[in-house]
Amino acid sequence: MNHQPFRSWLLSEEPLPPEQAQALNEHLQDCEACRQIDTSWSKVFGLFQCVSPAAPAPGFTERWQQRLIAQRMAAQRRQAWIAVAVTAGTALLLLLILGIQVVQILRAPAQLLLMWIARLTSLVNVLVDIQKFILMVLNSGPIIPITLAIFFTGFICFISVAWLATYRQMTSNWRIA
Ligand SMILES: [Zn+2]
Repeated sequence: MNHQPFRSWLLSEEPLPPEQAQALNEHLQDCEACRQIDTSWSKVFGLFQCVSPAAPAPGFTERWQQRLIAQRMAAQRRQAWIAVAVTAGTALLLLLILGIQVVQILRAPAQLLLMWIARLTSLVNVLVDIQKFILMVLNSGPIIPITLAIFFTGFICFISVAWLATYRQMTSNWRIA
């Protein structure tokens, strides 16, 4: 004999719809095994109803509240530590960035100095060359024809402009990015 779904209905705590209750009753009249289960379950259920719920141990509420407070305080302490760690980490990172910048600034004067020494050297070299050229022209004296003097003047202008262009090119390349 198939005892399902009657056993599920027997153990169900929900009230059964009328047609299911009638089908169960009819099955119980024919089935000895299910009738025994029904009787036993009714006794157990009755015992459950009779037993009064166990009272908590004395001081349970106080202990529970104290434990709750302790847990909340522990959680707050944990959050405070996390906040401190995050703040310290951020501060450390900022210090690191600042340190790198300070090192770069400290290194920069050396580069600036080298750049200015190079510029001055280049300028002095060009001035010396121009001085030599002028001296040469002056020493030549009146032997030089006027056309040659004009040509030399033009040449000096050209050299000066070329030097200025080169100088600008060099300094713009050396600029610290
Ligand atoms: Zn049965």
